Amino acid sequence: LVRLRARLSRSQNTLGKGLLTLLSREHLDEDTWEEIEDTLITADVGVAPTQELVERLRERVKVLGTRTPEELRGLLRGELLHLIGTEADRSVRTEGSPAAGGGEDIPGIVMVVGVNGTGKTTTTGKLARVLVADGSSVVLGAADTFRAAAADQLQTWGERVGARTVRGPEAGDPASVAYDAVKEGIAEGADVVLIDTAGRLHTKTGLMDELGKVKRVVEKHGPVGEVLLVLDATTGQNGLVQARVFAEVVDITGIVLTKLDGTAKGGIVVAVQRELGVPVKLVGLGEGADDLAPFEPEAFVDALIG
Ligand code: GDP
Repeated sequence: LVRLRARLSRSQNTLGKGLLTLLSREHLDEDTWEEIEDTLITADVGVAPTQELVERLRERVKVLGTRTPEELRGLLRGELLHLIGTEADRSVRTEGSPAAGGGEDIPGIVMVVGVNGTGKTTTTGKLARVLVADGSSVVLGAADTFRAAAADQLQTWGERVGARTVRGPEAGDPASVAYDAVKEGIAEGADVVLIDTAGRLHTKTGLMDELGKVKRVVEKHGPVGEVLLVLDATTGQNGLVQARVFAEVVDITGIVLTKLDGTAKGGIVVAVQRELGVPVKLVGLGEGADDLAPFEPEAFVDALIG
């Protein structure tokens, strides 16, 4: 939490602080409520959730009458948590499955998808580090064969954290690399296979074919437990458009929001969960190996409010 707060408050005016200041005004007139709405929209919360939140806040403030700063803080905290949701299962599913017919067990399979530049490869490396630190053996699949440096980058991460990287020929078939990676994982008795994929949005049909194929081919070995969509928190509404495209292509099971250290616009957490109906599971808080954290709504809201 301390780290999250430090990172988020690097950009001074966090969403929560701005809202608290506005809510603390003696007279909450229409102009102030409009400012509150603007603050939420600017922070990427999205129109519908903003309206919902403002309506609930208005109601609660009316009931409250006079407001102490602590009461306001508590109220805002509760409403932001309500919006983000505290019930969802935010664990990353990395459990393997027993082999059919008594062969080798199948490792947990995680696909990491998203547009290039959002932090996919970095996230895959960081996640491998967390898993290895927890005692799991991990194989990395470099199925981003489109971006020339991606496989090297992933392999460097692998060497750093102690995970083997399976890669194919440059511009080779991503699905065949992914297949080989899981095959290798099974042969080695690995616990988890993480598959880094390519994400070039300009050819949507190509992407659709490719990601769908990667998943289908991998599933010849065993079930994919998790498809994590990596989104760059600093891209705001643009990220939402991307999210929609990917959700059409594969069933997303969790969201990783990267570069939260570079923005005060925490609202994207709300907007993207609403958009996809899928929880944010992990957040990226920097470029370093330890800068991946589970997403914890309470800690996040506390960091936002400051
Ligand atoms: P990919 O093309 O999606 O695989 O993206 P990369 O993993 O290569 O990341 C693109 C850039 O974003 C790199 O410079 C990363 O170091 C950086 N990056 C990734 N995650 C984070 C994060 O959480 N915070 C910050 N500040 N930078 C990040």
